[in-house]
Amino acid sequence: MVEYDIAIVGGGIFGCSIARHLSIKSDAEICLLEKEYHLAQHQSGRNSGTLHLGVVTEADVEPGSQLAKFTIEGTRRLKSYCLKHDLPLHDRGIMKVGDCEEEQEKVREMYHSALESGVEVDLLESREEIRNLEPNISGKNALFSPESATVDTGPITNKLAQEAYENGANLYMGCEVKQIKKSGDRLSLRTNKDTIEADYLINAAGTKALEFAQTMGIGQEYQAVPFRGAYYELVPERRSLVNSNVYPTNVGESFQVGVHFTRRPDSRVIVGPTGMIALGSETYGKTDFNIREIYNTISSRNFLNFIGSKDTLLLAWDELNKTYRKSSFLRRCQKLIPEIKSGDLEESYVGISHWLFNQEGERIGEPIIDIGENATHLIMPQPGFTAALTTGEYISEGVLDHLSSVNRIDNTKATTD
Ligand SMILES: Cc1cc2nc3c(=O)[nH]c(=O)nc-3n(C[C@H](O)[C@H](O)[C@H](O)COP(=O)(O)OP(=O)(O)OC[C@H]3O[C@@H](n4cnc5c(N)ncnc54)[C@H](O)[C@@H]3O)c2cc1C
Repeated sequence: MVEYDIAIVGGGIFGCSIARHLSIKSDAEICLLEKEYHLAQHQSGRNSGTLHLGVVTEADVEPGSQLAKFTIEGTRRLKSYCLKHDLPLHDRGIMKVGDCEEEQEKVREMYHSALESGVEVDLLESREEIRNLEPNISGKNALFSPESATVDTGPITNKLAQEAYENGANLYMGCEVKQIKKSGDRLSLRTNKDTIEADYLINAAGTKALEFAQTMGIGQEYQAVPFRGAYYELVPERRSLVNSNVYPTNVGESFQVGVHFTRRPDSRVIVGPTGMIALGSETYGKTDFNIREIYNTISSRNFLNFIGSKDTLLLAWDELNKTYRKSSFLRRCQKLIPEIKSGDLEESYVGISHWLFNQEGERIGEPIIDIGENATHLIMPQPGFTAALTTGEYISEGVLDHLSSVNRIDNTKATTD
């Protein structure tokens, strides 16, 4: 048996960010356990790569809320982190395009909301203004957020882990946590290798985090449902169709932010994602499935309440078409770039995230992080990896304050990015 003060489960961007902050800020004995042999193999290596400053412009994000703070600070700090450590960054902003009258109105609302949140944005009020920045984009008005950017989350995750390691944290790769049990005042983590004892657990297991939390009596009211996002990408000779990152403006209900064009730091332009319920949280292949997870989804009252309404079924049908019929996907793309053709798109990678539903079947959009006596559970860290540094610092400060108040740890040092 091996003993630590703090054990972190999950080598995605959140687990690594927390390990880094904790190891810099304290002398605690820390370990991070990751079941794969490489870091960032799941959500943190399979996403759009967008620093979501634009999220604060959405009408339902309250200016001044924790979500707004995490998003704004998160974007700025992650950009500085990339610059400081020479990590891939494409720093050319994001455009959200409005076409019909409703979308144009939403663009104007988002503009005011962004200003209220203190985010720099430009309102582009004509096709000509849009085309000055993006010559191939069709739309009547648009919001441009110059501070937004894209990054490559794999190298960021590795850098955070490297810093954690250099500051004394132990990283166990290929180490799957099978069971977590209370053992007196401590926790006992049974893995496929050793049993690890720790005073405190950080559960950053991504799509599996709710499952661990529930075995410890936390988050029983929620159900996590995996959603599969598949991307296309522009063939190399057509990448010039987009300079930076272009999103549609969604009005009404939607499963996703909508099919968008994202220029990654390596110059590839990814297009998507599609959004369909996944047949498992790590089932990336088209024919992969996980019977236990499918059963959990379809037998959950939370999920049945969500899927039960006529509006949701229509949306699901729409998404199903977009996922399985390239022509339907292409039509979404043509809304933003009319001249795009089927041959301009080739299949790219797949990512799976989880959505959280409450018992009424409502989707939870706020961050759900439970900081408790023996464990912190990142049930739904929002708004995605954008907030990895801010959340890492917030959690490590909360945990160290708690552990030092009960004399379990000496918490003295300050962290900087
Ligand atoms: C398609 C897609 C697009 C996205 N786009 C964006 C975007 O543009 N901007 C943004 O900010 N966010 C985006 N996100 C969200 C973002 O990627 C995630 O919020 C973030 O990566 C989650 O990181 P994580 O560390 O919590 O989870 P993960 O990266 O999934 O890491 C969890 C880790 O836990 C490990 N693990 C699980 N169970 C065990 C166990 N039993 N024992 C040991 N280890 C275990 C897993 O192997 C995994 O490595 C997107 C997500 C997806 C799927």
